[in-house]
Amino acid sequence: MERKWVNTQLSGMRGSWSDAPSASNITFKNYDHMEKTLAAARTYVVQFQEGEVERKFQGTTYKFQFQYRDPWKWIVDLLSDPSLSSDIHWYPAQKFLCEDGVTTQLFDEPYTSGKWYKIQGTLPQVRNLPHCYVPMALWLDKGMVTKRVRKHPIILRPLFLNSNIRNASGNGGGVLVGYMIIPIDPSDSDDRNAAQSIDWARFRRELMHKAFKIIFGSLIQPAKHGEALTCGDNILRVCYPGIPITSIDGEEACSVSACRAALALFPCPRCLVHHNDLDKICKSFTLRTTETMKRFYEDAMAAPTKTESERIIQSVGLHATENFFWSLPNSDPYSANSYDLLHSDESGKWGKHLWPLLLDALKTKGYKGRLTMK
Ligand SMILES: [Zn+2]
Repeated sequence: MERKWVNTQLSGMRGSWSDAPSASNITFKNYDHMEKTLAAARTYVVQFQEGEVERKFQGTTYKFQFQYRDPWKWIVDLLSDPSLSSDIHWYPAQKFLCEDGVTTQLFDEPYTSGKWYKIQGTLPQVRNLPHCYVPMALWLDKGMVTKRVRKHPIILRPLFLNSNIRNASGNGGGVLVGYMIIPIDPSDSDDRNAAQSIDWARFRRELMHKAFKIIFGSLIQPAKHGEALTCGDNILRVCYPGIPITSIDGEEACSVSACRAALALFPCPRCLVHHNDLDKICKSFTLRTTETMKRFYEDAMAAPTKTESERIIQSVGLHATENFFWSLPNSDPYSANSYDLLHSDESGKWGKHLWPLLLDALKTKGYKGRLTMK
């Protein structure tokens, strides 16, 4: 808002617009005072900085700037905050319900998950020096913020705090770590053939992973070797950050996994289900892992010819994109998809998604008008 509008509003709210001007609770006197106060407050939170990536597409080099803030600085702030330390889960735990001789394991908050339990077992065990995993959930999606402006926010939430804290907006809640690049399509997407569509998808995915490398780059060293921190409860711990959970839709899941999605023979971002077996929803398929996918990528890069390289990378439905998450330990991007998106509702259920398709199928079977949606 412009300076003159802020000044008009503040003087109005503190003066003639108010019933009892002397009793106004607004302490900002004017625009300059407000700006000065906000600047002082900003020193307590991690600031945004500018990142830049460049990439070639069909012979032209494109440069993109984006805003982000350092997630490791944010994590250190949380871990060293005395007001949060008693709420932090420093270790995983297992919960059991024992009833009538039957034992059932319970899973509620992330610290009760098998994944965290397994990761903790891989960290060094040192007497009097706790080594702790510090997991986060990643959320990102494109959306309109006004009629004309589209943004692609990236949000992290601390999984070591319970849902009532991490899903709220206060201290310990989610934090906006940046805005993903949204490249504008230079040509008409309807005129492209399949190979050109794959090229464009690969370009976007490569940009995304290059941006991830800048945004989350500060996590790599502590995730690999741990970083000793004096936490909010005055205990020294060696902390290992990681991103074991992503909360994303089908399209984003393919981008984060750098998979080829619907056009591929193996379209699932989580497992190696063949395109022809997608309807076999009760069957299990080999899961993708960082280790196996990285190996296919490296084999493709080392192949003697371009054709052979393409064959290898296509044989698992990957793009030839170096996935950022391969470099971040305990952050497998394939298992991070909370459930198998593609085999359940990758295209969404209602509205313009699966619903019209279902109605069409019912119509051809002669059941039109026999099903209603309440
Ligand atoms: Zn799958």
